[in-house]
Amino acid sequence: RQDTLGWIGLGAMVGHPMALNLFSKTYLAHSKQPSGTDIPSFVICEQDEGRAQTFVAALKDRGGTELAARVERVENGRSVSQKASRIFTMLPNSPQVESVYLEESTGILAGLRSLPTDAPSLTPLSPIHDDSASHTLLIDHTTLDPSVAKRIASTTHQTTSGKVVMLDAPVSGAGTVAASAGLLTIMLGSPSAYATTLAMPLLQQMAREGGIILCGENGTGIGVKVANNMILAINQIALAEGLALGRSLGIDPLLLHSVIDTSSGQSWSSRVNSPLPQVPNSPGFRNYQGGFQSKLMLKDVGLALHAAHEYDLPTPLTWAAQSVYEAVCAEGEGEMATKDFRYV
Ligand code: NAD
Repeated sequence: RQDTLGWIGLGAMVGHPMALNLFSKTYLAHSKQPSGTDIPSFVICEQDEGRAQTFVAALKDRGGTELAARVERVENGRSVSQKASRIFTMLPNSPQVESVYLEESTGILAGLRSLPTDAPSLTPLSPIHDDSASHTLLIDHTTLDPSVAKRIASTTHQTTSGKVVMLDAPVSGAGTVAASAGLLTIMLGSPSAYATTLAMPLLQQMAREGGIILCGENGTGIGVKVANNMILAINQIALAEGLALGRSLGIDPLLLHSVIDTSSGQSWSSRVNSPLPQVPNSPGFRNYQGGFQSKLMLKDVGLALHAAHEYDLPTPLTWAAQSVYEAVCAEGEGEMATKDFRYV
């Protein structure tokens, strides 16, 4: 169990490419060590049979049959935690994460409760020590409600008497492309320096250099991600509205775009994610295929509004953005990248 990595949720966009990098790089690094060192094993849990098969085939392509033979597919979080001591989750949203971690008979914590452990209890001030193998590490990469992330981390801490460490580690960096290249930005909410030390070498297999940002205690990593995507959702609409006004005024769209992108209207949206079909490598250029889907943007706007509501924070632009993305999804365009940013 100590040398086994587990992954739950192999979605095509980010879960699959992240797990592919983590498993293959970890395996290849170990196989270069002198013989006699323990070669890791891998456990996957994915409810969609086809996605699980596609993942194992991709792993075989990347690392050969010996690597693929070291992968076992299991049914639920409980089975993963009984077999793996380093567990990663990349699920759609809060309800799935709650169920995979906390479900009474099939959750990750149910599996951990059934195991004996001699790991010492950890507190935020626990020193970094050597017997890292004795602690189970849980890392959630999902974009979910920050309050749910905090609650699951706190329940994990309480029910395992601080013997299991959990971190929130949502990702960003232009989705599938960065995930496949191992160039993600990872925002980390961690309960202690010790937990961060355990997680770092594993997260480095999926992130760009300098791309792991320690944000603070549990819940802060996901807080940063949700606040960032709230701004992104508004910026995309602002850019599309400006471009649409320019078109109505008879201005050349490429000229307007290049001025925006080098002056005060500039943003990541204008630099990388323009809706204009004429801008090379933009979502518009790719006919809105691939990239961050409108339905995910709608989900993230909902998470931001929910979090803001908990603090009575007025967010009029985020409410307006939500209605734009709702309309796009209602028109059947939720699967399309940035079609939400209604320039066309
Ligand atoms: P997805 O819905 O494609 O993938 C989730 C996977 O989890 C699916 O394959 C699903 O079958 C599986 N799953 C769901 N419940 C399960 C369960 N109980 N047991 C086992 N497997 C289960 O989503 P995605 O696009 O991979 O995104 C995952 C998360 O990453 C989301 O929170 C999303 O917001 C976030 N994210 C996505 C992107 C992107 O570009 N797609 C970028 C950054 C962050």
